[in-house]
Amino acid sequence: MSAHRDLLTQLDAAIGDADHGINMERGFTAAAAAMETANGATPGEILLETASTLMFRVGGAAGPLYGSGFREAGNSLGKAASFGPQDLVDALRAALAGIQAVGAAVEGDKTMVDAWAPAVEALGREISAGDDIVEALGRAREAAEAGAQATVPLQARKGRASYLGPRSVGHRDPGASSTSLLFAALERALREA
Ligand code: ADP
Ligand code: MG
Repeated sequence: MSAHRDLLTQLDAAIGDADHGINMERGFTAAAAAMETANGATPGEILLETASTLMFRVGGAAGPLYGSGFREAGNSLGKAASFGPQDLVDALRAALAGIQAVGAAVEGDKTMVDAWAPAVEALGREISAGDDIVEALGRAREAAEAGAQATVPLQARKGRASYLGPRSVGHRDPGASSTSLLFAALERALREA
């Protein structure tokens, strides 16, 4: 988020209030710092801790949305000490449901849901087909990025960008772009592990 702060902020300058990169850097820097002291916590507990950090530190619309997503992912993983591919699919599905429960956006509204939904769908499909988890996360990353890019011609129907009406057309949605970065990070983390 730090490396892409200026890009995210520029995207938000075009159809919002030019704070998305700053919001995301602040929130995820705080979340990474909180993880330093999370010794012995389960994956689900780490996600819940991350959720409350994001909720309070990202701010704007994205804070409660990502916060809810990480919280539902954490609830889905529960207290298990480890998780497998299908658990990850279930957790990410729960995250998307949490984001939609808060923001009520559907695909095509030009929001982060346009990146989340195809990514979760691709991951579920690849894992059900028996694909290797790293390959499957590569497909999810591609689907998130394609979904983010596909927001360009859309008119925003949710969030601050919707106030612009037709003037929101022709710009890439910042939240869909940060979601694409998150799926890229997820794949990278697994590759490195
Ligand atoms: P704010 O709009 O309050 O300044 P941010 O700039 O941090 O918040 O985040 C804007 C992003 O939040 C948008 O690009 C969009 O992807 C996402 N967003 C806004 N409203 C919704 C919603 N109702 N559902 C899903 N995502 C939304
Ligand atoms: Mg903004």
